[in-house]
Amino acid sequence: RLASWQDGLRAEFPIFERSPGLAYLDSAATTQKPAAVLDAVHEFLTTGNANVGRGSHPWATRTTARIEACRDRIRRALGDTGDGSTVDFTSGTSDGLRAVADDWLAGQLTDGDEIIVPFGDHQSNLRPWLDLRDRLARTGVGVTVRPMPVDPASGDYDHRALPSVVTGRTRFVATTHVHHVFGADMNVHRIREVVGPDVPICLDAAQSVGHRPVSVADLDVDFVVFSGHKMLALPGTGVVWARNRRGPRFARRGWAGTPNTAGIVSMAAAFDWLDRAGLADIHAWTTALCVRLTDGLSRLPGVRVLGCQNSLTADSDVQRRDGIVTFRHAAVRSDDLGFVLADEGLMVRADSHCQAGRDTDDLAVRVSVHVYNTPDEIDRVLAVVERCERMGS
Ligand code: PMP
Repeated sequence: RLASWQDGLRAEFPIFERSPGLAYLDSAATTQKPAAVLDAVHEFLTTGNANVGRGSHPWATRTTARIEACRDRIRRALGDTGDGSTVDFTSGTSDGLRAVADDWLAGQLTDGDEIIVPFGDHQSNLRPWLDLRDRLARTGVGVTVRPMPVDPASGDYDHRALPSVVTGRTRFVATTHVHHVFGADMNVHRIREVVGPDVPICLDAAQSVGHRPVSVADLDVDFVVFSGHKMLALPGTGVVWARNRRGPRFARRGWAGTPNTAGIVSMAAAFDWLDRAGLADIHAWTTALCVRLTDGLSRLPGVRVLGCQNSLTADSDVQRRDGIVTFRHAAVRSDDLGFVLADEGLMVRADSHCQAGRDTDDLAVRVSVHVYNTPDEIDRVLAVVERCERMGS
């Protein structure tokens, strides 16, 4: 059933029609766009495009109404009933996290306060907090930044060690939903349990929104930050969703300028498309592709999948691959593997993956999938890795 459903959906992405034989396996970097999203942008720009929140002529009022409708659409997509929450538009996750740091957290912290942030996730979820600490230090406000404890074997947060970094001065926690290298769900429910009900949590959802159902009714977090381009919409768009219950309302300073109206329209259209396709099925599909890949890799003795503790096929580990599998080969350099895969039309990412604390010596091959990827593409990757292994050993 899923195979024919997927076939139909893949056909809705014009880019694949134009490039037969090429497999795009780099969706964690950015996703491809279905025709419905491109059409919505075209329709918006060719029927009453104007600036937003200013002017009273028909196209201006229409654009303002349209953008407000997109805000509501995004709220609905996040399972938000709209009880005091806000949706602010940004240029992406990096911009959104920085906005939370500079436009909100900066006003909350006083001398001696502490925050907990991830040191081994995407660097966009580390720099804003460190920069804020440094800026406050120059004004005489000393803030301690504590690293979220990590289990070195699995790359997961070490939830058992978390209580040891939570203190009476903990004012904020930044966390990741799905890790962009390990594909692991970082278990934000557990973090809420440990830090208690009063500490605001900011969730970097760049790799979860648009990939699987994400509901703020279920996640007791205060900020959800994500990028449009990673959820089938245009680049240069993103969202900060804020609950506004713990602390003052989030109010973005940058909102005075002209936002990326076409991009915002594309996000609403992408959520429409994802709803129609079915996010739970999309998640089941991408999880199955990851299982296929990790199963195949587990038969290659030189391969190590990152963020995986024990046997690759142990259920708990396989389940944790949310659309992303990253691996290294003991005998073949990752950048060489990347070149050979690209030569075969298999577009993966082979570098250090913007992971905080890593440098270019830490290369690895990342395969990341969305609904348009197929089991055949995974098998082609496995065949190339196996061939390289034979040649390399
Ligand atoms: N956080 C995570 C987990 C990511 O995967 C990414 C993108 N790779 C970012 C933040 C940054 O997103 P953007 O480049 O859209 O700002």
